[in-house]
Amino acid sequence: MTHILVAGGGIGGLAVALGQARNGNRVTVLESRPEFGEIGAGIQLAPNAFHALDVLGVRERVAARADFIDELRFMDGTTGRRITAMPLTGGYRARFGNPYAVVHRADLHRALLDGCADAGVELLGGHRVTGYTQRAGRATALTAAGDRFTADVLIGADGLRSAVREQLVGDGPPRISGHTIYRAVIPMSEVPERLRTRAVTLWAGPGWHFVHYPIGGGDHLNLAATRDDGAREEITGAPAGREEVLAEFARLADGARRLLELGRDWRIWVLCDRDPVDTWVDGRVALTGDAAHPMLQYAAQGACMALEDAVALATLLRCDPADMPQRLEKYNAVRRERTARTTHTARWMGSELYHPAGARAAERDALLAGHSAEDLHDVVAWLHGTTDFIGT
Ligand code: FAD
Repeated sequence: MTHILVAGGGIGGLAVALGQARNGNRVTVLESRPEFGEIGAGIQLAPNAFHALDVLGVRERVAARADFIDELRFMDGTTGRRITAMPLTGGYRARFGNPYAVVHRADLHRALLDGCADAGVELLGGHRVTGYTQRAGRATALTAAGDRFTADVLIGADGLRSAVREQLVGDGPPRISGHTIYRAVIPMSEVPERLRTRAVTLWAGPGWHFVHYPIGGGDHLNLAATRDDGAREEITGAPAGREEVLAEFARLADGARRLLELGRDWRIWVLCDRDPVDTWVDGRVALTGDAAHPMLQYAAQGACMALEDAVALATLLRCDPADMPQRLEKYNAVRRERTARTTHTARWMGSELYHPAGARAAERDALLAGHSAEDLHDVVAWLHGTTDFIGT
């Protein structure tokens, strides 16, 4: 039986594992943390992600805990003026064949984990992969404890600071964007009725923006406030005080400010990505998700791309083990352009859409306000509307 090894048990790794197990392969996931899990924050899933979840057989599990929202609202963060809103019901769903939703990361991860468990995936926590070797048509993952796991293929799904990538691509640490994000989740019961919406709302200000949306079946509100503060050091999940957050976003308009004030247990991340590279494949070893193409979150597509990768791998690796190196080359070729375009789009959205000041912000507002719902749908069609992840 073909054996697939996956390094990393995040959303990307579990999606790959599930796709491969559903192909009838033996699958082993090596996760560095003792337990498999995800941090408590929200994630947006566009129709392309739902298509992937469908193919992976876990759409219903995810949908059961998802919030299917009505619109993406774009607000002026300082005046509180509504600039535009992209409807996500009716014509949007009909055109793209799937809904747009927000979910708790833990719910998405749990759905994939349960799917993997049901499909017989071997899930091994506490194994930090440090590199790999290849010999005689087999790939071996090496771990920090000195263990060796050998299979037909190794997929590196070990995230932004991937050890598999370090050996395969060798492009050093990720690019620090200079943007800091403050994240918190609050119970919806604490949110005043008038501020509860079935929307992802983005408040754009000069050099900063604030996003909020419901998660956990509407039980909680996810808050994420980002500042272009020129941060130069990596921070991942450090605690931040409420007063610090309020001071950083002092100019936020009233309703949004009220939500920010409700936040507690804030945590900070300094956002990173990488320049796209041409090659993520070395013989029987390939990268996926953030290990392959980490992007800023401004297009809300990093996890969606990881789910697409998993579907592409599931389709392409339905073959004789001897053919797998060529199939992995094809995977690389078909995923490269789309993921690179998304990476560049996310950077562009941060600098040109979310953070402009003065005249540039006024130009943006005029441009956006002039778009009809259909125009807005045209803009996202290449991203949200794709269902063919291998370009057949
Ligand atoms: P990760 O989630 O990083 O998982 C990697 C896994 O590998 C982890 O479990 C880790 O413990 C493990 N690991 C690490 N190193 C090793 C090792 N050496 N050996 C073994 N295991 C290892 N995407 C969207 O689609 N929509 C959104 O709305 C969205 N919002 C975002 C908001 C923010 C603030 C951020 C930062 C990102 C957002 N993203 C979003 C992007 C999304 O979170 C990532 O693209 C996605 O989680 C990547 O999944 P992954 O499995 O590839 O990597």
